[in-house]
Amino acid sequence: MVFDIDMIKSVYAAFPGRIAAARKAEGRPLTLTEKILYAHLSEGEASEKHERGVSYVDFKPDRVAMQDATAQMALLQFMQAGRSKVAVPSTVHCDHLIQAEVGANPDLAKAKDKNREVYDFLSSVSNKYGLGFWKPGAGIIHQVVLENYAFPGGMMIGTDSHTPNAGGLGMVAIGVGGADACDVMAGLPWELKFPKLIGVKLTGKLSGWTSAKDVILKVAGILTVKGGTGCIVEYFGEGAHSLSATGKGTICNMGAEIGATTSIFGYDEKSEAYLRGTDRSEVADLANSIREHLTGDPEVYANPEAYFNEIIEINLSELEPHVNGPFTPDLAWPLSKFAAAVKENNWPQKLEVGLIGSCTNSSYEDISRAASLAQQAVDKKLKAKSEYTITPGSEQVRFTVERDGFLGIFENMGGVVLANACGPCIGQWARHGAEKQEKNSIITSFNRNFAKRADGNPNTHSFVASPEVVTAMAIAGDLTFNPMTDTLTNEEGKQVKLEEPAGLELPVKGFAVEDAGYQEPAADGSEVEVKVAPDSERLQLLEPFQPWEGTDLKGLKLLIKAKGKCTTDHISMAGPWLRYRGHLDNISNNLLIGAVNFFNDTTNKVKNQLDGSYGEVPAVQRQYKLHNIGSMVVGDENYGEGSSREHAAMEPRFLGVRAILVKSFARIHETNLKKQGMLALTFDNPADYDLIQEDDSLDIIGLDSFAPGKPLTVLCHHADGSKDEIKVNHTYNAGQIRWFKAGSALNLVKDNAI
Ligand code: SF4
Repeated sequence: MVFDIDMIKSVYAAFPGRIAAARKAEGRPLTLTEKILYAHLSEGEASEKHERGVSYVDFKPDRVAMQDATAQMALLQFMQAGRSKVAVPSTVHCDHLIQAEVGANPDLAKAKDKNREVYDFLSSVSNKYGLGFWKPGAGIIHQVVLENYAFPGGMMIGTDSHTPNAGGLGMVAIGVGGADACDVMAGLPWELKFPKLIGVKLTGKLSGWTSAKDVILKVAGILTVKGGTGCIVEYFGEGAHSLSATGKGTICNMGAEIGATTSIFGYDEKSEAYLRGTDRSEVADLANSIREHLTGDPEVYANPEAYFNEIIEINLSELEPHVNGPFTPDLAWPLSKFAAAVKENNWPQKLEVGLIGSCTNSSYEDISRAASLAQQAVDKKLKAKSEYTITPGSEQVRFTVERDGFLGIFENMGGVVLANACGPCIGQWARHGAEKQEKNSIITSFNRNFAKRADGNPNTHSFVASPEVVTAMAIAGDLTFNPMTDTLTNEEGKQVKLEEPAGLELPVKGFAVEDAGYQEPAADGSEVEVKVAPDSERLQLLEPFQPWEGTDLKGLKLLIKAKGKCTTDHISMAGPWLRYRGHLDNISNNLLIGAVNFFNDTTNKVKNQLDGSYGEVPAVQRQYKLHNIGSMVVGDENYGEGSSREHAAMEPRFLGVRAILVKSFARIHETNLKKQGMLALTFDNPADYDLIQEDDSLDIIGLDSFAPGKPLTVLCHHADGSKDEIKVNHTYNAGQIRWFKAGSALNLVKDNAI
């Protein structure tokens, strides 16, 4: 048993009281989302009303899940917290670093060799600090979580954007950055702006070629890639209860593509069947005992307009299969209109590759339905005209579908089974010929289809559909093929038609697996050694940052005055740099290399005030560090928008930047800076940005009385001897000021001072 039954019991024990308090605070019936959110508020916030889209609220999530790429820095930071074990049940999943090239076994062997030091580190650090470790080949994080850890009414954060997959089993599951995961593992609360709520009412029942994937493809078309921002999407209605738990997972998973914080379904008979089918009857029994709390109140669903910020209604009986794309997941085409769209837009009609699987669509149901089409292809003497790959989501699913003969059917059709990992979905695809950048089409059952995502070729037109539609199109080798209406010519020259796909939600003989690939942590990890080679390029143990010296900061050099947009990608670029995401010193060589220097309109070229020369930003900053001179970065509006990557805050701190002064911050980045012990300041008068000159030496005054709501002063000493005094603001509360003084939030945790 890998799930933590005692934790689930204690969460459920608190439910009735928490929900009663929430009803009182809100003064009305509650949606499911509100029940779960209120049940997970940090102590002290439970009896207050929290305003949607406005209040920032502290939560206590039940679990943390991390994939191998993002877990590295999260765990390196966690090691700084001085705890012997993680504060909440947590897991690590090795799925993102496995490249698809030939097929499952050789690809997995190659990845183990290439990423050995990363896997050894993650395995040993998990073993020491009490985290469950899922080895390479065990499966994709979200599928493994759904099969083992997700539970109705729970709250989880995960360091991956498709964490919401667990919403299919009634969990509020939210994708976050590594710093947030580190905080929760260290026992700190986790802050979220109380979300707005979108209700999706599902009526009718799916049939024929339509599947759960088509629900989210349709919703993406309605809401677009931004329509769910700041919202949780709650699905309800009789149609919701007709969907399998894994089908619901597919819908919640791809909710990330509309920008939603997460998506969720209520607990029902399908959830119960899935829990029992995945050997968690104990969880199902517990969930049944508080069933009424694991769905929205009846008044809410009877009159949803009064309780949700927005309502969408979809009749599953009328829903058509959809194909979305290319290049964006919200360009939604009903299948009957897609062929015309392909021709009108001159998209390559020939389909090169069909890919099924990924965390979005790799359940037993998905694979059995796709296999029913593959079997028809064999029976009707059709050979797949496109290349065709299958990525099982977990070893448990892979083992079971192999036992039940489905993998053999795919292979008979010419399909290639890839490792249980992300592979082509995250660009880990050694696709032969992609470097020629030819215009071509592929179709996948994944979730994202932005340019270059799968194979690095900007001219690959990538479309997203259900595994069934992907399989039918791969058989036809033609994007204009509509399996609902069209026939195909078989090897004997006869016209044949594919019948509707058929499959099973759960295996009749139950799931089976020989080695799921799970490593249980040591009961006492005190003697376990964390493996990091001292000469590693990819991993480096962190040293705590120095505490504040207790004085005003004087004589800081201006490192760069960034002009215009400066996202976390400009501050800490991705691409090849991701290789170093576990090595702070090495990745710091990308510090601000994408930011435009106000004084020369160029990236990565700033003045070194020590000798007047111009150099690359990280190199100049390393010179200041060498001479023990602090520096300051100045920026424009919304500095640090984009991904929540913590490296964008850790790198400047590591290299000796003391403060970031901007017109305004993106909130998550501002908080990340505070956590690392940096000063995050804003101009009281944004026009003062113009006062900052290239040769400035800067003092930050007022730190001896640093207090919430009290502005500080920045003194600019210009090269000509003149001075400007600038009023600057900050949003530090008392606790965050203590982070600054301690040198970082984790230093404080370590001192047991929080
Ligand atoms: S399969 Fe794709 S979407 Fe899912 S976790 Fe992996 S990379 Fe992300």
